[in-house]
Amino acid sequence: MKAFRGTLVYFTGDPRADRGALRHIEDGMLVLDEGRIVSAAPYLERPGVDIVDYRGKLLVPGFVDAHVHSAQTDVIASPSDNLLDWLERHTFPAEARFADAAYARQASAYFIDELLRNGTTTAAVFPSVHPESVDAFFEAAAQRGLRMAAGKVMMDRHCPQAVRDEAESSYRDAQALIRRWHGRARLAYAVTPRFAPTSSERQLELAGRLLEEHAGLLLQTHLSENEEEVRWVRQLFPWARNYLDVYARYGMIRPGALFAHCLHLDGGEWDTLAAGGAAAVHCPSSNLFLGSGLFDLAAARRAGAAVSLGSDVGGGTSFSMLRTMHDAHKVARMRRLPFDALDGFYLATLGGARALGMQERIGSFEPGREADFIVLRPDATPLLARRMAQVEGIEARLFLLMTLGDERAIEATYILGQLV
Ligand SMILES: [Zn+2]
Repeated sequence: MKAFRGTLVYFTGDPRADRGALRHIEDGMLVLDEGRIVSAAPYLERPGVDIVDYRGKLLVPGFVDAHVHSAQTDVIASPSDNLLDWLERHTFPAEARFADAAYARQASAYFIDELLRNGTTTAAVFPSVHPESVDAFFEAAAQRGLRMAAGKVMMDRHCPQAVRDEAESSYRDAQALIRRWHGRARLAYAVTPRFAPTSSERQLELAGRLLEEHAGLLLQTHLSENEEEVRWVRQLFPWARNYLDVYARYGMIRPGALFAHCLHLDGGEWDTLAAGGAAAVHCPSSNLFLGSGLFDLAAARRAGAAVSLGSDVGGGTSFSMLRTMHDAHKVARMRRLPFDALDGFYLATLGGARALGMQERIGSFEPGREADFIVLRPDATPLLARRMAQVEGIEARLFLLMTLGDERAIEATYILGQLV
């Protein structure tokens, strides 16, 4: 048994639907056993139990980044006119380097350490088209005992040769990777067609077949990020009623499916997404950086679609989920929508866990959950310290952390109860 004393904050549901879903224990104690949560309760002296003292700090579940690219660290902050130009000029050349296993290993280790430094303990990750990039990522994640999802990017057209596969080879490679990694330690495989324009219909069909053949796989891709891309999809798939219909044909609208961006959907697409139990991943930092558009949280909420948050590094400009929440707040304000600290922290913890179908394992402090958690420092910077002294109440403090915080506010990251 091991215990941590501090201010505990977590959610048991979506606070937008039920404000009572916020759990806040000002002087709390998180008790763990063998890497799992035993209890989250008010502090009580417990003779014989080792207590780590984090009084004055906040203990929250580790952040979940529901959309991020491990092969794009080296193109973060590359200026560009738009998504398609950014892919051609910066991203594809960067991803091509992951054909080299040694480079992939070194870059993956850096990427994962950067996630942990930012308090992100679980992520849905796009490596590159090369199987080596997936092995490198999963090896680094397994070494650190992390709960992670990733899969080989599938793309067999409309991209340079160095990052292109073939429909049949992508299926065979994915099969081998699934056998090697899916369900091993805390790892999950995600079938990962990059997006409709870079996959032939045959490849999408085979991606759908992988989902049929193996239980419990995730699916991740991009959907409706850029208006030019949406027009392109209409030309490439003239039979489709809309962009989402392309993925629907291949059985991809399902629980555990993560659709990044979802910026230019019509009402019917939102309803289809919600009815299928799939999740939209809101990537505000990337959407602002590339000028892709403003996510319509109201439409998602109206349809009842699950929403999560993604940094989308390297389109996004920060690994920090605090900064990602902050950008989500700004995007919501541009749309005249409410977005408070509870929205932000819920989406980055339990909301993300739900989108990945991992809510029984991570994302909250309910008994039995895996003890991946972080310690937030409310006075991480002089400005935070000054403003913190002027506010009262947990919502106000979380709002300051979300708006002014970044990786400097992460005092410690714990994986299964172990400090990393
Ligand atoms: Zn992306």
